Amino acid sequence: MSVLSAKYMHDEAAAFAHVEAMLWADGPVCPHCGVVDRAYRLEGVRTKPSKKNPEGKERHGLWKCRECRKQFTVRKGTIFEESHLPLHLWLQAIHLMVSSKKGISSHQLHRVLGITYKSAWFLTHRIRECMRDGALAGFGGNGGIVDVDETFIGKEPGVTKAKNARGGSHKMKMLTLVDRDTKRAKSIVVDELRKSTLIPILQENIAREAYVMTDEARQYQGIGAGRVFEAHGWTNHSAGEYVNLEDREMHTNTVEGFYSIFKRGMKGVYQHCGKQHLHRYAAEFDFRYNNRIANGVDDAERS
Ligand SMILES: [Zn+2]
Repeated sequence: MSVLSAKYMHDEAAAFAHVEAMLWADGPVCPHCGVVDRAYRLEGVRTKPSKKNPEGKERHGLWKCRECRKQFTVRKGTIFEESHLPLHLWLQAIHLMVSSKKGISSHQLHRVLGITYKSAWFLTHRIRECMRDGALAGFGGNGGIVDVDETFIGKEPGVTKAKNARGGSHKMKMLTLVDRDTKRAKSIVVDELRKSTLIPILQENIAREAYVMTDEARQYQGIGAGRVFEAHGWTNHSAGEYVNLEDREMHTNTVEGFYSIFKRGMKGVYQHCGKQHLHRYAAEFDFRYNNRIANGVDDAERS
């Protein structure tokens, strides 16, 4: 059975129930005062009668807050608020856009959903904007801080540890970026930590206007002051400095926090984790990290 035949794709009440279940895991959240699970449903409310609908249309998903006495629906404060199109059509449009490999044109959507071309155009653009905000926008796109760090894991295949080897040349290497505003993390397995390898990866993933925070490693020197990124700050780990005392923002604790979760999770696994699989583990930890707030799980609770 196709997802498109699901009830919430066709029935407005079911569409509301579906979105409410996704966004309100702990009960309805009042968008006016922020109180959770203190609202009750208003059933049977209809819109004002009009020529087209002499008896008015049923208002689905209407709630009233016990705290501030205001009414709301789950559409309030989301992209769904911005049009009068039925919610189930929004859900169909989103499904079509995210599930089709090459995307779907406004024209196609206009025909498939039986809505005006203008509405279809509006929908595709709003949904696209959300996708950008969600996953495709560069880290630090709002001029915020992006922490960058590397870590060493397990053993690089085919490399034996030299007797006096320092650092992690014989280990697998991973680069991680964490956007402090969106709390998103992205980890990339790299073959080596040369400047010529790292900087293009940073450019690919981090917006120009970002404030990039690293340790004092030589590879990162000279990337600030608008040369590669708007600004660059670094802490001197070798001097035992993890938070710059003059500027509390100057640290890479955020990405180090990510690594501590990663290493705890990988303990006992990464010794045997082949390099060809490491990026998948990395993606799995990124995903969990990126969704930990949405899932209501924070680092302390997760063991
Ligand atoms: Zn309220």
